[in-house]
Amino acid sequence: MTRLDRSPHGDEAEIDIYLNFVDSLFADRRSMLMGVTLQIGIALCVYIESGMTSMGVWPGIFLLTAAYRYFHIVCYGRQSAAAASMDRETRLAWAKDWERRYILSSGLAGLAVGMFAWFSLEFVGTEFAIIASLSTVFAALPTIVGRLYGSVRLAALMTVSVLIWPALSLLMAGNLASMIAVLLFLPYVGLVMSMVRRVRSTVVSAVRGRLEKTEIAERFNLALTNMSHGVIMFDRHQRVVVINRRARLILQIPHHVNAEGRSFSVLMRYARRFNLVPSDHAGSFQDVVSSLLVTDGRKAEIRLTNGVHVEFSGTQRPEGGSVLILEDVTERARAQERIKAMARFDSLTELPNRTHFGEEAVRRADEADPESRCLLIAFDVDDFKRVNDSIGHAQGDALLRAIARRLRRDYGDCAAISRLGGDEFMMFVDRLPADFEIDAFADGLRDCLRRSFRIGPEKVFVTQSFGITYGKAGDFDLKRAMVEADLALYHSKAMGKGVWSLFERDMNDRYLRRQLLKGELAKAIELGTLSVRYQPIVEAATGRIVGCEALSRWHHPEHGNVSPAEYIPLAEEMGIITKLTESVIRTATRECARWPDHVTVSVNLSSIDFQRDGIGQIIQNALETAGLPANRLIVEITETAVISNEADMIDRLTRIRRTGVGIALDDFGTGYSSLSYLHRLPLDRVKIDRSFVAGIETGDTPLALLHGITDLCHGLGLKITVEGVETASQLAIVRGSGKIDKVQGYLFGPALPATAIAEMATRMPAENAAADAPAAVAQPGTAATG
Ligand code: C2E
Ligand code: CA
Ligand code: CA
Repeated sequence: MTRLDRSPHGDEAEIDIYLNFVDSLFADRRSMLMGVTLQIGIALCVYIESGMTSMGVWPGIFLLTAAYRYFHIVCYGRQSAAAASMDRETRLAWAKDWERRYILSSGLAGLAVGMFAWFSLEFVGTEFAIIASLSTVFAALPTIVGRLYGSVRLAALMTVSVLIWPALSLLMAGNLASMIAVLLFLPYVGLVMSMVRRVRSTVVSAVRGRLEKTEIAERFNLALTNMSHGVIMFDRHQRVVVINRRARLILQIPHHVNAEGRSFSVLMRYARRFNLVPSDHAGSFQDVVSSLLVTDGRKAEIRLTNGVHVEFSGTQRPEGGSVLILEDVTERARAQERIKAMARFDSLTELPNRTHFGEEAVRRADEADPESRCLLIAFDVDDFKRVNDSIGHAQGDALLRAIARRLRRDYGDCAAISRLGGDEFMMFVDRLPADFEIDAFADGLRDCLRRSFRIGPEKVFVTQSFGITYGKAGDFDLKRAMVEADLALYHSKAMGKGVWSLFERDMNDRYLRRQLLKGELAKAIELGTLSVRYQPIVEAATGRIVGCEALSRWHHPEHGNVSPAEYIPLAEEMGIITKLTESVIRTATRECARWPDHVTVSVNLSSIDFQRDGIGQIIQNALETAGLPANRLIVEITETAVISNEADMIDRLTRIRRTGVGIALDDFGTGYSSLSYLHRLPLDRVKIDRSFVAGIETGDTPLALLHGITDLCHGLGLKITVEGVETASQLAIVRGSGKIDKVQGYLFGPALPATAIAEMATRMPAENAAADAPAAVAQPGTAATG
């Protein structure tokens, strides 16, 4: 009677069912006590009714067996708490031990009931005794079903042990009715058995169900605890049913706070206590989350004060209530912020880029008092390309960063600063009073940036050109202001380096004209509508024509004569100057070939012409086509051409000069005038700029200057032409120096058509032309000069 129908050594579930069964044996002490009380009561009644002293022992026997069983129940109850913490094997052994004890005690109790029935039937035999004892027996049977369902065999044995005594007594009666009654006991045993089986299977499946539920719950719990997302489940009243560890962590809800059963707003009080939600957002945060709890599939991202970005998403539960998922999206948010910053800031200098700067300038202007003044300044680094080429691009970048740093340091507080691209910067300064001193500000900015920047091991000296536009904040228009600042900057560039200019209305007109001329110029050069005029160059001593300078002319059908001073820089800017140079050289050599042999022609070359190798070839081709000896051609170069690329320039000039073409340095005395060029360049002649002659006779220009410069050139073995001689007295002074062999200027004529030169040259034959003619063609250093 000690074993379950199914082995307790089976799987985990079987063991659990077995333990559960043993537990159930000792569970209901109240029903046991009640049953025993009834038994004692009936035994007392039989004793009193029969008047037999021997029957007086039965209440005592029932009491004793009950005490024994009660004692077991109490002991079991005491041990079971400790048993819960036993390992499975020990617990199983312990349970088996208790099962045995139970069988013993309940077996005794069953035996007592059976014996009592037998005694009542056999020895008392009164009507009352028979009824009372049989009801005791049959009342015991349901308790067997209720308690011993765990083991069908045990239940069968107990049933038999109780019923055997009344059955015996009936058999002993010997009559037919008693025999039939005993036979009826058999199906009764079967009935008890089947009830036991039914109860058992119900209990087993209930236990299994409970175990499964516990297991699912445990798994669910494990998954929930280890989820990377925070999960909060709410019931239909929006109270927390489940909250996982991650959610607590994200919302910083301490462990000791019991979240279950509370509403989200109560939970958020903790979050607010830890200042997790920006206080000005607390209300809206609450609203956002509340709305997530009632709508399906919506998301909201909220940045907590600790810098953590949390994405909240709500889902409705089909059975009512909702689930809130919290995801830490800080990494994603940061990446997005970086992307946004990249779109708003220049990665090299970390200054705002054009778009961001524009927005900032507009915002500032909008917020400022409309009557206050604001400035927009465009500027760039002078000759940045040259700096970049000489120190390398990486260092060039470092220079731009250094400039940005300095700007931020000195102007970061009062201005919005941007790098628009390349070496172009822009600044917006606002909230300036109406009587603001713009000169002082512009000078200050210029001086702040005009300096040597330490770039790695080197120090790089740079200057900047600035264009400034100025006006009332109320009138600020970003687009217009940017154009104005650019125009002013363009103006500064034309004036030289390291200067600033304020935008003026006519800059706009000039800009428009330039744009217009650019379009027309390209066409004119392409179609060959530009012409060439020749300005006579005469011998200083005699006044005889010995050469001329080819000057390009553009007569525009609408704009009339456009000065080369205006369109040559445009052609340079547009990169089409060499086309123009080529056409002038071709025309000039062709015309010169028709003139008397002693007349030379000078052609102006642009610095751009020397940036590529082709210029030598252009000259050569023109000379060959025209059939003009090389020594009748002189090319004029300016110092700017030399500065931009000295080494290549010297190389290219040397090769040109070797062919017999003369080289003259034009506009000498203006611009950079580094005297060292005179040594290094392969020159034949210098042309002293007309500014040394203008005002010389009135004393406005000191004569000493002209003398100094001619002495210097003469000392270096260079021949000298003086330009811009307009009056006879100027000519007299020039002649007086004795070192100037040729002169040019309006005194001898402006730029004239080729035929006029031919006529002049024939009118004044070359008496002394040999003095100026080259000794031999293609001998460097001895070529003729203009
Ligand atoms: P430049 O090479 O110095 O040419 C001399 C300029 O001085 C010419 O101006 C000429 O007309 C002007 N000039 C001559 N004598 C006098 C005088 O006595 N007084 C005054 N005040 N001016 C005098 P233009 O023709 O307007 O040319 C201006 C500049 O444009 C030239 O200066 C030259 O640099 C450039 N240029 C002209 N034609 C060409 C060309 O075909 N190619 C290139 N690259 N530049 C050219
Ligand atoms: Ca010239
Ligand atoms: Ca000149």
